[in-house]
Amino acid sequence: MIQAVQARRWQQVAACILAVYLALPQPSPAVTKMKLRGYITARVDDRTLAILDDKLELTVASRIAGQDASGEHAMTMADLGPGMLIEAEGQWIDRHKFFAEKINVDLRDAEKQVQGAAYLQEEPGEASKISGGEAAALKADGYWLDLTAQTRREWDGAKVASASATGSAMGARDRALAGYQVKYSGARRSDGRIAAERVELGGPAPADAYKMPHDVQVAVGKDPQTGIDVIEFRHGNKVQGRMKLFPVRSVQEYVTTLGDSLLPQGNRGTSKALEFRFFVVEDSSINAASLPDGTLIINTALLGAIQNEAQLAFVLSHEIAHVLQVHYWREVHETRGQRVGLVIAGLAAGAFIGDLGTFLAGMGIASVVNGHQRELENQADRLGLQNVIEHGYDPREAPKFCRMIIERYGDRSTSKVWSNHDSSLLRGSFLTVQLMRQYPESQFEQTKRDSSAFRAMREAMGPVKIE
Ligand SMILES: [Zn+2]
Repeated sequence: MIQAVQARRWQQVAACILAVYLALPQPSPAVTKMKLRGYITARVDDRTLAILDDKLELTVASRIAGQDASGEHAMTMADLGPGMLIEAEGQWIDRHKFFAEKINVDLRDAEKQVQGAAYLQEEPGEASKISGGEAAALKADGYWLDLTAQTRREWDGAKVASASATGSAMGARDRALAGYQVKYSGARRSDGRIAAERVELGGPAPADAYKMPHDVQVAVGKDPQTGIDVIEFRHGNKVQGRMKLFPVRSVQEYVTTLGDSLLPQGNRGTSKALEFRFFVVEDSSINAASLPDGTLIINTALLGAIQNEAQLAFVLSHEIAHVLQVHYWREVHETRGQRVGLVIAGLAAGAFIGDLGTFLAGMGIASVVNGHQRELENQADRLGLQNVIEHGYDPREAPKFCRMIIERYGDRSTSKVWSNHDSSLLRGSFLTVQLMRQYPESQFEQTKRDSSAFRAMREAMGPVKIE
């Protein structure tokens, strides 16, 4: 779907869970060196590591090095364990079996010490305790932060609000903090919660952060030639591109109902220039995308490939988090991203979009389809996992979805799009590790996986074309 996006940044290669067009590199007759990147999910034995279903075999000759801010450090096999982010160089010796000549460990991805910044997706339940210096719990960035009397805090909602134009429009009493930014640091405890050392309340993202670039509007319309329902990308009064809406109303309604049910409470009643809308479009590639304005586009092939409602709930929650965390805007502002002019090459005005990734690349927002940089994808995954858990779904279905994709495309001799198979392995292993370290005591046996509404939706879809 996105093969035409040539000069893709590395961050975009470490792509979204949904940009899943990867193939396992095949053990080919001409032995080529490969790289494998992901989080160690298990130590099988003294010489074997696992990243999901892939086993990495090491010998005494395998070189292991750790990288941190101070440089490279020699490590041994004994130093390696679940949760570490590694890049292995070597060869496939069998399906799911990789011989690792060299392993680089990313030590900056420390497992105990965490810090970050995130917009609150919900009203904090204990805001007055937080501002009053008391012990309190705060849900932020997909974590539970525990504040004690020792936690350093800068938490004055009124002050932050008066400093930001959006906030000052609100009443001083009962100030809504959903949408406000929290910066935090702390240490992960063995129960997965974070002992907060510092929390700092900041302002909300500007309204511009939820706008499509170049003031492009996304609207429902009809194709003038065929009369079928479409979504249109409008620039001024020009239609830059159309996508065919899947014509079965009950399918659209199911996805909208599920999506709405997953929206965090804090999304309602805020002053954000944002409206979530869910559209199922006819597209044979397994993908979904969230646009900055809250438009979620779900391909028919994704609905056809996904195995149950828990998996779909995770996918939608992940995309919702991209929007609420203004990831597109953050990439532009924090990384001076390559926002480009409105160049929608090779598309006659009003034509159907053949490839959403290419189309959006012309608008400078390829990352909403191709995946954001890893930190942002991880944040969307953390928030997505927390959201599905709170809605009673089995979060283990999230990494299962990645494994299914790896299996599905693993038999291809060539990957249509990717030259490596980073994405699904990286995402799936991150989700697995995240569940292990953040929810170590949770039992998910009694949680929801499927629903009759999901089955009915699949029934209504009929056969689905999947590439
Ligand atoms: Zn993503």
